[in-house]
Amino acid sequence: MVIDVLDRGDLPFPGSLPEFQRMFPDEAACMAYLERARWSDGFICDHCGLLGEPYRFA
Ligand SMILES: [Zn+2]
Repeated sequence: MVIDVLDRGDLPFPGSLPEFQRMFPDEAACMAYLERARWSDGFICDHCGLLGEPYRFA
């Protein structure tokens, strides 16, 4: 599955290194961004279609 965040008006995209560093101060911020990119309406299990909070390994 390919996700192009530049095609997504709801996802900001950093235009500079300082902006990138502001958007992604830590791994949790990166994870949250990627989850938003993958599941814009909240997590949905690909396997069973269940909505809700996913179990996170990190
Ligand atoms: Zn499931």
